[in-house]
Amino acid sequence: MDMASLRCEFRDAAAERAFQRHHLAMTQAQLRVTFIFCSLFYLCFAASDMAWLGYSVRTTMLMGARLAVAGVALGGLIVLRRRPGSIPVTRGVASVVEIAGAAGFLLIAALRPAEFSLHAISMAIVVIVIYIYIPNRLLYAAAIAAPATLGFIVLAARLGDLRRVELGTMAALLTLTNLFGYVAARRYQLLLRDEYKAQMVLKNLSVRDPLTGCYNRRHLHEQLLETEIARAQRYRLCLTVIMSDLDHFKAVNDTYGHNGGDAVLQRFGALLQSMTRDGVDSVVRYGGEEFLLILPETDLAGGALLAERLRHALADTPVEHEGRQIAITASFGVASIDFATSAHDAHLNMIAAADELLYAAKNGGRNRVCTRQLV
Ligand code: GH3
Ligand code: MG
Ligand code: MG
Repeated sequence: MDMASLRCEFRDAAAERAFQRHHLAMTQAQLRVTFIFCSLFYLCFAASDMAWLGYSVRTTMLMGARLAVAGVALGGLIVLRRRPGSIPVTRGVASVVEIAGAAGFLLIAALRPAEFSLHAISMAIVVIVIYIYIPNRLLYAAAIAAPATLGFIVLAARLGDLRRVELGTMAALLTLTNLFGYVAARRYQLLLRDEYKAQMVLKNLSVRDPLTGCYNRRHLHEQLLETEIARAQRYRLCLTVIMSDLDHFKAVNDTYGHNGGDAVLQRFGALLQSMTRDGVDSVVRYGGEEFLLILPETDLAGGALLAERLRHALADTPVEHEGRQIAITASFGVASIDFATSAHDAHLNMIAAADELLYAAKNGGRNRVCTRQLV
Protein backbone atom coordinates (compact mmCIF):
# COMPACT_ATOMS: atom_id res chain seq x y z
CA MET A 1 0.00 0.00 0.00
CA ASP A 2 1.82 3.00 -1.40
CA MET A 3 1.46 6.41 0.29
CA ALA A 4 1.18 9.86 -1.33
CA SER A 5 3.80 11.80 0.63
CA LEU A 6 2.27 15.31 0.61
CA ARG A 7 -1.31 14.53 1.51
CA CYS A 8 -0.31 11.45 3.53
CA GLU A 9 -2.99 9.13 2.23
CA PHE A 10 -2.86 5.75 0.49
CA ARG A 11 -2.46 6.29 -3.26
CA ASP A 12 -5.00 3.56 -3.89
CA ALA A 13 -8.44 5.14 -3.38
CA ALA A 14 -10.07 1.86 -2.29
CA ALA A 15 -7.36 1.25 0.33
CA GLU A 16 -7.77 4.82 1.62
CA ARG A 17 -11.56 4.38 1.83
CA ALA A 18 -11.12 1.09 3.72
CA PHE A 19 -8.73 2.82 6.11
CA GLN A 20 -11.17 5.71 6.67
CA ARG A 21 -14.00 3.27 7.27
CA HIS A 22 -11.86 1.29 9.72
CA HIS A 23 -11.25 4.50 11.71
CA LEU A 24 -14.67 6.12 11.24
CA ALA A 25 -16.03 5.38 14.72
CA MET A 26 -12.83 6.64 16.35
CA THR A 27 -12.74 9.76 14.14
CA GLN A 28 -16.32 10.59 15.04
CA ALA A 29 -15.72 10.04 18.76
CA GLN A 30 -12.73 12.43 18.58
CA LEU A 31 -14.81 14.95 16.64
CA ARG A 32 -17.60 14.82 19.22
CA VAL A 33 -15.20 15.53 22.09
CA THR A 34 -13.54 18.31 20.07
CA PHE A 35 -16.85 19.95 19.15
CA ILE A 36 -18.07 19.91 22.75
CA PHE A 37 -14.75 21.37 23.87
CA CYS A 38 -14.80 24.04 21.11
CA SER A 39 -18.35 25.14 21.89
CA LEU A 40 -17.60 25.34 25.63
CA PHE A 41 -14.43 27.32 24.87
CA TYR A 42 -16.26 29.84 22.69
CA LEU A 43 -19.23 30.06 25.13
CA CYS A 44 -16.88 30.77 28.07
CA PHE A 45 -15.17 33.52 26.09
CA ALA A 46 -18.53 35.01 25.14
CA ALA A 47 -19.40 35.21 28.88
CA SER A 48 -15.98 36.61 29.82
CA ASP A 49 -16.26 39.30 27.06
CA MET A 50 -19.54 40.42 28.57
CA ALA A 51 -18.09 40.41 32.10
CA TRP A 52 -14.86 42.27 31.27
CA LEU A 53 -15.91 44.58 28.50
CA GLY A 54 -19.48 45.43 29.54
CA TYR A 55 -22.34 46.00 27.13
CA SER A 56 -21.70 47.77 23.81
CA VAL A 57 -22.47 47.15 20.16
CA ARG A 58 -18.96 45.80 19.73
CA THR A 59 -19.29 43.37 22.67
CA THR A 60 -22.60 42.18 21.27
CA MET A 61 -20.91 41.50 17.91
CA LEU A 62 -18.05 39.70 19.69
CA MET A 63 -20.54 37.59 21.58
CA GLY A 64 -22.47 36.96 18.38
CA ALA A 65 -19.32 35.70 16.64
CA ARG A 66 -18.43 33.44 19.57
CA LEU A 67 -21.97 32.09 19.88
CA ALA A 68 -22.12 31.47 16.12
CA VAL A 69 -18.98 29.30 16.28
CA ALA A 70 -20.35 27.41 19.30
CA GLY A 71 -23.62 26.95 17.37
CA VAL A 72 -21.81 25.53 14.32
CA ALA A 73 -19.88 23.09 16.54
CA LEU A 74 -23.10 21.97 18.25
CA GLY A 75 -24.76 21.65 14.80
CA GLY A 76 -21.80 19.44 13.84
CA LEU A 77 -22.66 17.14 16.75
CA ILE A 78 -26.23 16.81 15.50
CA VAL A 79 -25.15 16.08 11.91
CA LEU A 80 -22.71 13.40 13.14
CA ARG A 81 -25.50 11.80 15.12
CA ARG A 82 -27.79 11.73 12.07
CA ARG A 83 -25.21 10.48 9.54
CA PRO A 84 -22.90 8.22 11.53
CA GLY A 85 -21.90 6.02 8.59
CA SER A 86 -20.75 8.64 6.08
CA ILE A 87 -17.08 9.46 5.51
CA PRO A 88 -17.74 12.56 3.31
CA VAL A 89 -20.24 13.95 5.85
CA THR A 90 -17.76 13.40 8.68
CA ARG A 91 -15.02 15.22 6.78
CA GLY A 92 -17.44 17.95 5.69
CA VAL A 93 -18.54 18.57 9.28
CA ALA A 94 -14.89 18.74 10.46
CA SER A 95 -14.06 21.24 7.68
CA VAL A 96 -17.12 23.43 8.33
CA VAL A 97 -16.33 23.68 12.05
CA GLU A 98 -12.69 24.47 11.27
CA ILE A 99 -13.72 27.20 8.82
CA ALA A 100 -16.29 28.64 11.25
CA GLY A 101 -13.77 28.58 14.11
CA ALA A 102 -11.09 30.35 12.04
CA ALA A 103 -13.50 32.89 10.52
CA GLY A 104 -15.09 33.60 13.93
CA PHE A 105 -11.66 34.14 15.42
CA LEU A 106 -10.62 36.55 12.64
CA LEU A 107 -13.80 38.55 13.23
CA ILE A 108 -13.09 38.68 16.96
CA ALA A 109 -9.52 39.84 16.30
CA ALA A 110 -10.79 42.56 13.93
CA LEU A 111 -13.26 43.73 16.59
CA ARG A 112 -10.48 44.09 19.17
CA PRO A 113 -7.66 45.65 17.08
CA ALA A 114 -5.66 46.91 20.06
CA GLU A 115 -4.66 43.39 21.11
CA PHE A 116 -3.08 41.86 18.01
CA SER A 117 0.04 40.66 19.86
CA LEU A 118 -2.21 38.66 22.16
CA HIS A 119 -4.36 37.51 19.23
CA ALA A 120 -1.22 36.09 17.59
CA ILE A 121 -0.96 33.56 20.43
CA SER A 122 -4.61 32.59 19.95
CA MET A 123 -4.03 32.32 16.18
CA ALA A 124 -1.16 29.89 16.82
CA ILE A 125 -3.53 27.80 18.97
CA VAL A 126 -6.24 27.90 16.27
CA VAL A 127 -3.67 26.68 13.70
CA ILE A 128 -2.53 23.78 15.92
CA VAL A 129 -6.14 22.82 16.70
CA ILE A 130 -6.95 22.72 12.97
CA TYR A 131 -3.90 20.64 12.04
CA ILE A 132 -3.77 18.26 14.96
CA TYR A 133 -6.72 18.33 17.29
CA ILE A 134 -9.64 18.17 14.86
CA PRO A 135 -9.39 14.95 12.81
CA ASN A 136 -9.67 15.88 9.14
CA ARG A 137 -7.86 15.28 5.85
CA LEU A 138 -4.41 16.84 6.02
CA LEU A 139 -5.06 18.64 2.72
CA TYR A 140 -8.26 20.23 4.02
CA ALA A 141 -6.62 21.25 7.29
CA ALA A 142 -3.76 22.94 5.38
CA ALA A 143 -6.22 24.59 2.98
CA ILE A 144 -8.06 26.12 5.97
CA ALA A 145 -5.18 26.94 8.35
CA ALA A 146 -2.83 28.58 5.82
CA PRO A 147 -5.35 31.10 4.33
CA ALA A 148 -6.67 31.85 7.84
CA THR A 149 -3.11 32.68 8.93
CA LEU A 150 -2.63 34.87 5.88
CA GLY A 151 -5.93 36.64 6.60
CA PHE A 152 -4.83 37.20 10.19
CA ILE A 153 -1.53 38.77 9.12
CA VAL A 154 -3.34 41.05 6.64
CA LEU A 155 -5.77 42.11 9.40
CA ALA A 156 -2.86 42.75 11.78
CA ALA A 157 -1.13 44.89 9.14
CA ARG A 158 -4.30 46.88 8.38
CA LEU A 159 -5.87 47.23 11.83
CA GLY A 160 -3.19 46.44 14.42
CA ASP A 161 -1.03 49.14 15.92
CA LEU A 162 2.19 47.18 15.35
CA ARG A 163 5.71 48.18 14.32
CA ARG A 164 7.00 46.59 11.13
CA VAL A 165 9.46 44.43 13.00
CA GLU A 166 6.70 43.16 15.29
CA LEU A 167 4.49 42.41 12.32
CA GLY A 168 7.35 40.63 10.52
CA THR A 169 8.17 38.53 13.57
CA MET A 170 4.50 37.66 14.04
CA ALA A 171 4.20 36.57 10.40
CA ALA A 172 7.37 34.46 10.65
CA LEU A 173 6.28 32.77 13.89
CA LEU A 174 2.81 31.99 12.55
CA THR A 175 4.33 30.58 9.36
CA LEU A 176 6.50 28.34 11.52
CA THR A 177 3.43 27.30 13.53
CA ASN A 178 1.79 26.23 10.26
CA LEU A 179 4.87 24.28 9.22
CA PHE A 180 5.19 22.50 12.56
CA GLY A 181 1.45 21.85 12.61
CA TYR A 182 1.64 20.31 9.15
CA VAL A 183 4.70 18.18 10.00
CA ALA A 184 3.14 16.95 13.27
CA ALA A 185 -0.16 16.13 11.53
CA ARG A 186 1.76 14.35 8.79
CA ARG A 187 3.59 12.18 11.29
CA TYR A 188 0.29 11.30 12.97
CA GLN A 189 -1.33 10.40 9.63
CA LEU A 190 1.66 8.23 8.66
CA LEU A 191 1.66 6.50 12.03
CA LEU A 192 -2.06 5.71 11.81
CA ARG A 193 -1.65 4.23 8.34
CA ASP A 194 1.44 2.21 9.28
CA GLU A 195 -0.46 0.77 12.21
CA TYR A 196 -3.42 -0.01 9.93
CA LYS A 197 -1.16 -1.77 7.40
CA ALA A 198 0.36 -3.92 10.16
CA GLN A 199 -3.12 -4.79 11.44
CA MET A 200 -4.26 -5.78 7.94
CA VAL A 201 -1.19 -7.99 7.41
CA LEU A 202 -1.92 -9.78 10.70
CA LYS A 203 -5.60 -10.08 9.90
CA ASN A 204 -4.81 -11.54 6.47
CA LEU A 205 -2.42 -14.02 8.04
CA SER A 206 -5.07 -15.13 10.51
CA VAL A 207 -7.90 -15.60 7.98
CA ARG A 208 -6.04 -17.01 4.95
CA ASP A 209 -4.30 -20.23 4.09
CA PRO A 210 -0.63 -19.49 3.28
CA LEU A 211 -0.28 -21.97 0.38
CA THR A 212 -3.27 -20.93 -1.74
CA GLY A 213 -4.28 -17.51 -0.35
CA CYS A 214 -7.86 -18.79 0.07
CA TYR A 215 -9.73 -18.22 3.35
CA ASN A 216 -9.00 -20.81 6.02
CA ARG A 217 -11.49 -22.99 7.82
CA ARG A 218 -11.25 -20.99 11.05
CA HIS A 219 -12.42 -17.85 9.27
CA LEU A 220 -15.26 -19.86 7.69
CA HIS A 221 -16.53 -20.97 11.08
CA GLU A 222 -15.78 -17.78 13.00
CA GLN A 223 -17.31 -15.35 10.55
CA LEU A 224 -17.96 -16.12 6.88
CA LEU A 225 -20.69 -18.72 7.15
CA GLU A 226 -22.62 -17.01 9.92
CA THR A 227 -22.51 -13.63 8.14
CA GLU A 228 -23.68 -14.99 4.80
CA ILE A 229 -26.45 -17.16 6.27
CA ALA A 230 -27.69 -14.25 8.43
CA ARG A 231 -27.75 -11.93 5.41
CA ALA A 232 -29.55 -14.46 3.20
CA GLN A 233 -32.08 -15.12 5.99
CA ARG A 234 -32.72 -11.42 6.63
CA TYR A 235 -33.36 -10.57 2.97
CA ARG A 236 -34.87 -14.00 2.10
CA LEU A 237 -32.28 -14.65 -0.62
CA CYS A 238 -30.75 -17.76 -2.18
CA LEU A 239 -27.43 -19.10 -0.93
CA THR A 240 -25.41 -21.86 -2.58
CA VAL A 241 -22.32 -23.69 -1.36
CA ILE A 242 -20.04 -25.91 -3.45
CA MET A 243 -17.74 -28.48 -1.87
CA SER A 244 -14.99 -29.61 -4.23
CA ASP A 245 -12.20 -32.15 -3.90
CA LEU A 246 -9.35 -33.03 -6.25
CA ASP A 247 -9.58 -36.53 -7.70
CA HIS A 248 -6.82 -39.02 -6.91
CA PHE A 249 -4.69 -36.25 -5.48
CA LYS A 250 -2.62 -38.73 -3.50
CA ALA A 251 -1.39 -40.12 -6.80
CA VAL A 252 -0.23 -36.58 -7.81
CA ASN A 253 1.86 -36.39 -4.65
CA ASP A 254 3.19 -39.90 -5.24
CA THR A 255 4.10 -39.22 -8.88
CA TYR A 256 5.27 -35.59 -8.88
CA GLY A 257 6.33 -35.16 -5.25
CA HIS A 258 4.90 -32.90 -2.59
CA ASN A 259 5.96 -29.78 -4.53
CA GLY A 260 4.02 -30.98 -7.56
CA GLY A 261 1.00 -31.50 -5.30
CA ASP A 262 1.42 -28.01 -3.86
CA ALA A 263 1.57 -26.52 -7.38
CA VAL A 264 -1.72 -28.25 -8.22
CA LEU A 265 -3.33 -26.93 -5.01
CA GLN A 266 -2.17 -23.40 -5.81
CA ARG A 267 -3.47 -23.65 -9.36
CA PHE A 268 -6.85 -24.96 -8.18
CA GLY A 269 -7.13 -22.22 -5.53
CA ALA A 270 -6.25 -19.56 -8.11
CA LEU A 271 -8.78 -20.99 -10.57
CA LEU A 272 -11.54 -20.94 -7.96
CA GLN A 273 -10.74 -17.36 -7.02
CA SER A 274 -10.49 -16.12 -10.59
CA MET A 275 -13.78 -17.70 -11.68
CA THR A 276 -15.84 -16.41 -8.72
CA ARG A 277 -17.04 -12.88 -7.98
CA ASP A 278 -14.48 -10.65 -6.30
CA GLY A 279 -15.68 -9.38 -2.92
CA VAL A 280 -18.96 -11.34 -3.16
CA ASP A 281 -18.14 -15.05 -3.25
CA SER A 282 -15.77 -16.68 -0.77
CA VAL A 283 -13.25 -19.44 -1.49
CA VAL A 284 -12.22 -21.49 1.54
CA ARG A 285 -9.54 -24.17 1.75
CA TYR A 286 -11.67 -26.54 3.78
CA GLY A 287 -9.11 -29.33 4.17
CA GLY A 288 -6.01 -30.67 2.41
CA GLU A 289 -7.31 -30.71 -1.18
CA GLU A 290 -10.91 -29.86 -0.39
CA PHE A 291 -12.22 -26.37 -1.18
CA LEU A 292 -15.55 -24.81 -0.25
CA LEU A 293 -17.20 -22.00 -2.21
CA ILE A 294 -19.84 -19.77 -0.64
CA LEU A 295 -21.97 -18.06 -3.26
CA PRO A 296 -24.41 -15.43 -1.96
CA GLU A 297 -27.55 -14.62 -4.00
CA THR A 298 -26.96 -17.65 -6.21
CA ASP A 299 -29.61 -20.30 -6.89
CA LEU A 300 -29.04 -24.01 -7.57
CA ALA A 301 -28.92 -23.55 -11.35
CA GLY A 302 -26.29 -20.78 -11.02
CA GLY A 303 -24.22 -22.87 -8.61
CA ALA A 304 -24.43 -25.97 -10.84
CA LEU A 305 -23.39 -23.92 -13.88
CA LEU A 306 -20.37 -22.51 -12.05
CA ALA A 307 -19.36 -25.99 -10.81
CA GLU A 308 -19.52 -27.34 -14.38
CA ARG A 309 -17.41 -24.44 -15.66
CA LEU A 310 -14.83 -25.01 -12.92
CA ARG A 311 -14.78 -28.74 -13.61
CA HIS A 312 -14.14 -28.16 -17.33
CA ALA A 313 -11.55 -25.44 -16.75
CA LEU A 314 -9.55 -27.71 -14.46
CA ALA A 315 -9.86 -30.84 -16.59
CA ASP A 316 -9.01 -28.99 -19.84
CA THR A 317 -5.77 -27.34 -18.69
CA PRO A 318 -3.11 -29.51 -17.06
CA VAL A 319 -0.96 -27.86 -14.37
CA GLU A 320 2.62 -27.08 -15.41
CA HIS A 321 5.24 -28.07 -12.90
CA GLU A 322 8.98 -28.14 -13.56
CA GLY A 323 8.42 -28.67 -17.26
CA ARG A 324 5.91 -31.48 -16.73
CA GLN A 325 2.16 -31.40 -17.30
CA ILE A 326 0.02 -32.68 -14.43
CA ALA A 327 -3.47 -33.68 -15.55
CA ILE A 328 -6.01 -33.32 -12.75
CA THR A 329 -9.77 -33.34 -12.26
CA ALA A 330 -12.09 -32.54 -9.37
CA SER A 331 -15.52 -33.59 -8.12
CA PHE A 332 -18.15 -31.15 -6.89
CA GLY A 333 -21.17 -31.21 -4.54
CA VAL A 334 -23.57 -28.27 -4.90
CA ALA A 335 -26.17 -27.52 -2.20
CA SER A 336 -28.53 -24.57 -2.44
CA ILE A 337 -31.13 -22.95 -0.19
CA ASP A 338 -33.80 -20.43 -1.09
CA PHE A 339 -34.45 -18.63 2.20
CA ALA A 340 -37.74 -17.27 0.87
CA THR A 341 -39.24 -20.77 0.90
CA SER A 342 -36.99 -23.12 2.91
CA ALA A 343 -37.64 -24.54 6.39
CA HIS A 344 -36.15 -22.37 9.12
CA ASP A 345 -33.46 -24.93 9.98
CA ALA A 346 -32.59 -26.06 6.43
CA HIS A 347 -29.25 -24.24 6.51
CA LEU A 348 -27.97 -26.16 9.55
CA ASN A 349 -26.73 -29.10 7.49
CA MET A 350 -25.80 -27.13 4.40
CA ILE A 351 -22.11 -27.96 4.40
CA ALA A 352 -22.76 -31.57 5.39
CA ALA A 353 -25.18 -31.81 2.45
CA ALA A 354 -22.57 -30.40 0.02
CA ASP A 355 -20.08 -32.91 1.43
CA GLU A 356 -22.53 -35.80 0.89
CA LEU A 357 -23.10 -34.64 -2.69
CA LEU A 358 -19.34 -34.45 -3.24
CA TYR A 359 -19.01 -38.08 -2.14
CA ALA A 360 -21.91 -39.03 -4.38
CA ALA A 361 -19.90 -37.45 -7.24
CA LYS A 362 -16.83 -39.43 -6.18
CA ASN A 363 -18.84 -42.68 -6.04
CA GLY A 364 -20.40 -41.86 -9.40
CA GLY A 365 -16.95 -42.01 -11.02
CA ARG A 366 -15.32 -38.62 -10.09
CA ASN A 367 -14.82 -35.57 -12.37
CA ARG A 368 -18.52 -34.75 -12.04
CA VAL A 369 -21.02 -32.48 -10.29
CA CYS A 370 -23.90 -33.57 -8.01
CA THR A 371 -26.53 -31.05 -6.94
CA ARG A 372 -29.43 -30.73 -4.51
CA GLN A 373 -31.93 -28.09 -3.48
CA LEU A 374 -32.36 -28.07 0.31
CA VAL A 375 -35.93 -27.41 1.46
P1 GH3 B 1 -10.17 -38.97 -4.00
O1 GH3 B 1 -10.32 -38.91 -5.47
O2 GH3 B 1 -11.04 -40.00 -3.38
O3 GH3 B 1 -10.39 -37.63 -3.35
O4 GH3 B 1 -8.68 -39.42 -3.70
P2 GH3 B 1 -7.50 -38.56 -3.13
O5 GH3 B 1 -6.25 -39.27 -3.37
O6 GH3 B 1 -7.57 -37.19 -3.68
O7 GH3 B 1 -7.91 -38.44 -1.61
P3 GH3 B 1 -7.16 -38.58 -0.25
O8 GH3 B 1 -8.01 -37.84 0.73
O9 GH3 B 1 -6.87 -40.03 0.02
O10 GH3 B 1 -5.79 -37.82 -0.43
C1 GH3 B 1 -5.60 -36.49 -0.16
C2 GH3 B 1 -4.13 -36.25 -0.13
O11 GH3 B 1 -3.88 -34.84 -0.06
C3 GH3 B 1 -3.43 -36.85 1.02
C4 GH3 B 1 -2.51 -35.75 1.55
O12 GH3 B 1 -1.18 -36.20 1.67
C5 GH3 B 1 -2.60 -34.70 0.49
N1 GH3 B 1 -2.43 -33.35 1.01
C6 GH3 B 1 -3.15 -32.74 1.97
N2 GH3 B 1 -2.71 -31.48 2.14
C7 GH3 B 1 -1.68 -31.27 1.27
C8 GH3 B 1 -0.81 -30.18 0.98
O13 GH3 B 1 -0.89 -29.10 1.57
N3 GH3 B 1 0.10 -30.35 -0.01
C9 GH3 B 1 0.22 -31.52 -0.68
N4 GH3 B 1 1.15 -31.62 -1.64
N5 GH3 B 1 -0.58 -32.57 -0.42
C10 GH3 B 1 -1.51 -32.46 0.55
MG1 MG C 1 -9.23 -35.96 -3.21
MG1 MG D 1 -9.93 -35.21 0.27
